[in-house]
Amino acid sequence: MRLLIVEDEAKLAALLARGLRETGHAVDLADTGEEALWRAGSAAYDAVVLDVGLPTIDGFETCRRLRADGVRTPVLMLTARGEVEDRIAGLDGGADDYLVKPFDFGELEARLRALVRRGPVSAAVVLRAGPLRLDPAARRAWHGDAELDLSQKEFALLEVLLRRAGEALDRRALLEAAWDDAYDPRSNVVDVYVGYLRQKVDRPFGTALIATVRGVGYRLDAESEGDGGPDGAAGPKDDGAA
Ligand code: CA
Repeated sequence: MRLLIVEDEAKLAALLARGLRETGHAVDLADTGEEALWRAGSAAYDAVVLDVGLPTIDGFETCRRLRADGVRTPVLMLTARGEVEDRIAGLDGGADDYLVKPFDFGELEARLRALVRRGPVSAAVVLRAGPLRLDPAARRAWHGDAELDLSQKEFALLEVLLRRAGEALDRRALLEAAWDDAYDPRSNVVDVYVGYLRQKVDRPFGTALIATVRGVGYRLDAESEGDGGPDGAAGPKDDGAA
């Protein structure tokens, strides 16, 4: 992975860079938010590790500007405080994950791997596949014109299926996307929730958009059923410029 570490404490930055390089990653360093914005805009990183406490513009603001600039690289925020408000501010500002200092290096690396596996963050646009639309910012989803009433987990599951429509996703990928690390990958929670989701997404409409891929997991069929109409047709537009 190619990583950008944004940290103004030189010792910690050097330590992180060394550790990540030793595990085979390419690492660039920035010690201010401004430098981070410049670097992230000019090179393709797989992930950014962003400290909240930075001299001029802090990590929250840096992250907001990154997203406003259209940078979709996953961001892992480092926060010194474990305050809930800080985590919320970070996640609302467009961070994808956070770690509270002091943290375990192994955990940092594992979280980075997970972030990178999920790939570039989608901009705040409406996701669509066939008759389905989902607005991640507004947390609303529709089948055709009918709005779907989904629980948080159902929504998270549908979101990951939509983001990777047409791909066979194994249970582990679905579990990682919608549940925290504490879940046993052998549990059948994914199957149970896919069942719930089908009752809301497919059954009332007589569709079979969520396909079972034998021996693997599930796939959202982008083309099957529904209109499969032209891309770019207007959905409920909300840029979520939060
Ligand atoms: Ca700092």
